[in-house]
Amino acid sequence: MRVFKFGGASVKNSEAVRNVAKVLKRHNGEPTLVVISAMGKTTNMLESLVHAYYNKTEELKSIFHKIKDFHQEIIKELIEEDHEFYEVDNLFIELECIIEKKPESNISYDKLYDRIVPFGELISTKIVNIYLSRTEYPCRWIDARNFVITTNQHRAAKVKWNVSTPLINGTLKPLLAKQSIITQGFIGRNEQHETTTLGREGSDYSASIFAYALDAESVTIWKDVDGVMNADPKRFESTELLKQLSYNEAIELAYYGASVIHPKTIQPLKSKGIPLYVKSFVNEAAVGTLIMENANRTLSNTQCFIVKDDQCLIKISTQDYSFIVEDNLEHIFSVFSQAGLQMNLMQNTAISFMACVNMDDLKVAEACRMLGDNYSLDLEEGLSLFTVFNYQEGYDLSPHTHNKEVILEQRSNFALQWVLRS
Ligand code: ASP
Ligand code: MG
Repeated sequence: MRVFKFGGASVKNSEAVRNVAKVLKRHNGEPTLVVISAMGKTTNMLESLVHAYYNKTEELKSIFHKIKDFHQEIIKELIEEDHEFYEVDNLFIELECIIEKKPESNISYDKLYDRIVPFGELISTKIVNIYLSRTEYPCRWIDARNFVITTNQHRAAKVKWNVSTPLINGTLKPLLAKQSIITQGFIGRNEQHETTTLGREGSDYSASIFAYALDAESVTIWKDVDGVMNADPKRFESTELLKQLSYNEAIELAYYGASVIHPKTIQPLKSKGIPLYVKSFVNEAAVGTLIMENANRTLSNTQCFIVKDDQCLIKISTQDYSFIVEDNLEHIFSVFSQAGLQMNLMQNTAISFMACVNMDDLKVAEACRMLGDNYSLDLEEGLSLFTVFNYQEGYDLSPHTHNKEVILEQRSNFALQWVLRS
């Protein structure tokens, strides 16, 4: 049995949904677990909805209606008799009930986020499932929250493998013998039955969780690009398809921020030797990328360019000019971990420590608040992180960085990283 994952771009409008059905039908004949993300940019819109709800802003209603209209348009274009989509209507009623009510006092932003943002995946899978059933593709909708059981960390939940694996393998696997399963990426639930999410772009990871627990023969991530490229074609002029990658290379690329695969996706697949294909849903004939165990570095001569925008640099200095030593580092790391901030690059000097992180207002403010009493802080926003993986000595990087100032540089065996100021 196989696992397929379709991301937001593959279901961004009615034509895209029809194309998903075509791809699935071409691969019919073998039971497939299909993981689907929210449609198009729905997750971003739902994030604005959470923001408006939490901050009680006026836009709340209009954002809700924008999300609803966007989906209703797709439904209308897919099927004329839209009464079949009453289950989708019910989800919108449920979502509206949530945002009409005042949130409990003291509820965290992240918990509210996990109550609201998962509607994107619930709605998209319902729509796709109804459309597929209509076109006589044998499938069944399953709520991923009954199978992906996680810790309580809202927005960054960790999978409880010892609970999830037997549920998926014991209960879900027999169902797959009868028809394909359509389910959501990105979402799970904790043991108190509250919905949790696995982090942005987490649907790839969901596919890998299901594949691991099902002992699937392969996972295919269907994308709007030909496969994993050595750079983002939207930013770089000449890009190259990486036809094969080892699990380790894929993990490293994802670690440095290549947005093509969610960083956590590879590890479960590697541990069971399940191959991962990244293929184009637009151009099925294209070879795509195959990621599998490979002792050799398959990438040896290809440089990969990765840009992460919306970065900030937090500079932390001791107030009494004492050295940044183990005690300080332990304190700093624990604050970052409590604030849920991941360091994309770090560097220290005798009396200061610098970390480049994603500019998440709330988390950065929280970390700064926790560090402010003990250290002097300096925050610079509006930066980007540029990584050249497999950097070849002597290669001229100036065309990629013109008009930008390098404010921090770091080199390791395989990578050159620059924090850039525009
Ligand atoms: N819909 C979620 C997001 O956009 C999860 C995903 O697409 O993988 O982040
Ligand atoms: Mg998405």
